[in-house]
Amino acid sequence: MRSVCEVVGLYYMQTLGCPKNQVDSDKLEGYLEAQGYEGTTDPDGADLVVVNTCAFIEAARQESIDTVLMLAERRRPDARLVVTGCMAERYGDELRDALPEVDLVAGFGHDLVGTAPLSATSVPVALGATRTAPPPLTGGFDLLELPRPAARAPWAYVKVAEGCDRICGFCAIPSFRGKQRSRTYDDVLAEVDRLLEAPAAAGAPPLREVVLVAQDLASYGRDRTGPGRATRTGSQGRPSPIAALTRAVAQRVERTRLLYLYPSGLTDELIGAVLDTGVPYFDLSLQHVSRPHLARMRRWGDGERFLRRIADIRAAEPAATFRSSFILGYPGETERDQDQLLEFLATAQVDWAGFFTFSKEDGTHAAGLPDQVAPELALERLRECAELQDTITAAKRDALVGSTRRVLVDAPGLGRTVHEAPEIDGIVHVPADLTVGDLVDLALVGAEGPDLRAVPVDALAATGAAAT
Ligand code: SF4
Repeated sequence: MRSVCEVVGLYYMQTLGCPKNQVDSDKLEGYLEAQGYEGTTDPDGADLVVVNTCAFIEAARQESIDTVLMLAERRRPDARLVVTGCMAERYGDELRDALPEVDLVAGFGHDLVGTAPLSATSVPVALGATRTAPPPLTGGFDLLELPRPAARAPWAYVKVAEGCDRICGFCAIPSFRGKQRSRTYDDVLAEVDRLLEAPAAAGAPPLREVVLVAQDLASYGRDRTGPGRATRTGSQGRPSPIAALTRAVAQRVERTRLLYLYPSGLTDELIGAVLDTGVPYFDLSLQHVSRPHLARMRRWGDGERFLRRIADIRAAEPAATFRSSFILGYPGETERDQDQLLEFLATAQVDWAGFFTFSKEDGTHAAGLPDQVAPELALERLRECAELQDTITAAKRDALVGSTRRVLVDAPGLGRTVHEAPEIDGIVHVPADLTVGDLVDLALVGAEGPDLRAVPVDALAATGAAAT
């Protein structure tokens, strides 16, 4: 049996795509480290180079392939190059044929070191924890329940479910990630507890913020039966699974943040649970606002309902922060749809928004729809929206200048208030001597586009300026 101290080689992990993929990489790193590998930030010196790919849209696939080719050039001749993640799962055979420089294309739950799927017996338990074994997936082991190393930053994503039960017309995710499979409360909370305990042993900063993620986070738990079973909001007086989980996580850690909320899942109960965490941040996955267009997308809602929900939340918490994402150029989109979206953006005044042009994905409902929108027109509409939103975001950031906010120091010189999600939104520049992992009250003294600048309150007082 291998000693825990024996290093069998160095691994380099490159992660592409969304936060959900980052969690998968964390789990794979935990697995590799338990196998005796040690992480390195230098791909040139690694024995094992892993690319965790993204297959969401064409641009993401191209970035994944470019990264694989770049690392194939840089790696040592005897190093092993492994491609895993969504592209490996969705286009495994094509990748094997097209990229002979790759040593292994490993779908979800397959071993990166050998060639076999990970098995329940091959998966070590990190951080001294015990866990209940999840049901194995076809051909492999569920990444959701793999152990993970201590977070390198004072925040960490925690994935609470995999897959999705919805049928959005543009989205291929359910076809390769499968139906939703929620973890139990106990497994999620055990992972949070391990992340909270791990930094002391690993010399990492203390964990201050947990970011809950899933493809359809508001639906967390609805697929479960038996212990940890989901109930719909308010039925029989029981809390909805996501609201209950949010409250339970918030009892453990200073900040709890939720990403990716399908708008129909934003119930009063969930809004209350989010506001009670002290992180009034709402990431609403809206995609569009025109009702007929959303129907074409096979999604729920319309701009009026979304505006009402945003107004309800602002009535309860005027400082609430909103993020959303929108797709431009989905088949059938008209000038009228575009005008409605622009009007919505101007009215809603969300703090953050991401815009994407439609990508025609194999096997999706939208791929076969008539009235495909020319890519140039989709891009033009995207630019129109992004230009408007940039001015709104900048004004929102300017409005924070002059206030004092609690800032979490993420890295030397960099922090975040509750208004910014990590890696997605703007940042706060803070004095470089502040300790990583500390939560400090700072005066916001300047804004530049999406980013803010903060100084200690007493330093501001010394200069005679006032913070409100
Ligand atoms: S909710 Fe998200 S993951 Fe699920 S089908 Fe729609 S876009 Fe895809």
